[in-house]
Amino acid sequence: MTRTILILPGDGIGPEIVAEAAKVLECLRQEQGLDVTLEYGRLGGSAVDELGAPYPEPTRQQAQRADAILLGAVGGPKWDALERPLRPESGLLAMRGELGLFANLRPVQHYPSLSAASALKPELVAGLDLLIVRELNGDVYFGQPRGIRTLANGEREGFNTMAYRESEVERIAHVAFKAARQRHRKLCSVDKANALETSELWREVVTRVAQDYPDVALSHLYVDNAAMQLIRAPKQFDVIVTGNLFGDILSDCAAMLTGSIGLLPSASLAANGKGLYEPIHGSAPDLAGQGVANPLAAILSAALLLRHTLNTPDQAERIERAVGRVLDKGLRTMDIMAPGMIPVGTQAMGDAVAAALED
Ligand code: NAD
Repeated sequence: MTRTILILPGDGIGPEIVAEAAKVLECLRQEQGLDVTLEYGRLGGSAVDELGAPYPEPTRQQAQRADAILLGAVGGPKWDALERPLRPESGLLAMRGELGLFANLRPVQHYPSLSAASALKPELVAGLDLLIVRELNGDVYFGQPRGIRTLANGEREGFNTMAYRESEVERIAHVAFKAARQRHRKLCSVDKANALETSELWREVVTRVAQDYPDVALSHLYVDNAAMQLIRAPKQFDVIVTGNLFGDILSDCAAMLTGSIGLLPSASLAANGKGLYEPIHGSAPDLAGQGVANPLAAILSAALLLRHTLNTPDQAERIERAVGRVLDKGLRTMDIMAPGMIPVGTQAMGDAVAAALED
């Protein structure tokens, strides 16, 4: 059965990097018999400009119909002054909420040929392979009430609500325990239970769910310590499970272990298997239009799409091996450049990965 992939290029560097991921998918379709149709739509600032809303009705319908969605990134200074519901990021949050994309998987893998690009010493990152499982439908990003109010003395106050229901913690904990079972059977739950009631409940529920997975070793860390440990000794981790806010920050931090935020893909999954796949980075307005952004996070996001929604792990591995080969050959975009390597732009990197698929 032909599966439909909805491609949402988005804003900034989004269209540039997604074009390379689409190129790789198209190659697999034409040459390896991958049975997919690629469809295109608008999300974020480009959707505001063309259709008047960041998650317009036509995109909503396309997203509902598609088997999987591949997104570039949304946002940029052009839309920062708009009222919040019209901002590009609101469109993405609305789509995540509406499609029930609650489980965000962020694999962090170190490529041996990129040791020099990591912010850490090579021995700290060599062989690093960790998975961050971030809850994506709750926490301060969705909690109500929220807003900016004026107090009796005339001073303004911004406020948000951090909240997690037991059922929300339970379902993300199950995803994380199951993922740990397929890896090295170690799960670290990250919270701030010493200061926040939300985290107190989080820890209690994760501990309870652990009884269903006696073969997985569960540990807990406070988020401040987890941030420190990620930099001190990242290889101690196998799977990390955490809430929306802490996961957002920790995964950007983990990106620098690999060398660049331009390398990290992500999968956001719903209970029904539908998934949204996107790089963890944003729209990088500082690079947009220059053809220099690293497309590998977008290309590796396509690999996650093949693995998790299309259930074609062989094709996913084909892409991941191709990325490894291209890096081994010394091709580097600006963000991972090192002396003696071959500088390439976004398109050339995508071409090289597409060409390496058959090796
Ligand atoms: P960013 O991730 O866009 O950029 C941070 C830094 O990383 C910049 O220096 C950028 O040049 C660099 N970078 C990012 N992607 C790169 C790539 N593929 N190759 C090379 N370098 C890369 O984060 P930001 O600057 O904080 O945000 C820019 C815009 O993106 C904002 O509007 C923000 O709201 C939005 N954003 C969107 C998403 C999303 O769509 N999921 C996520 C984060 C930020």
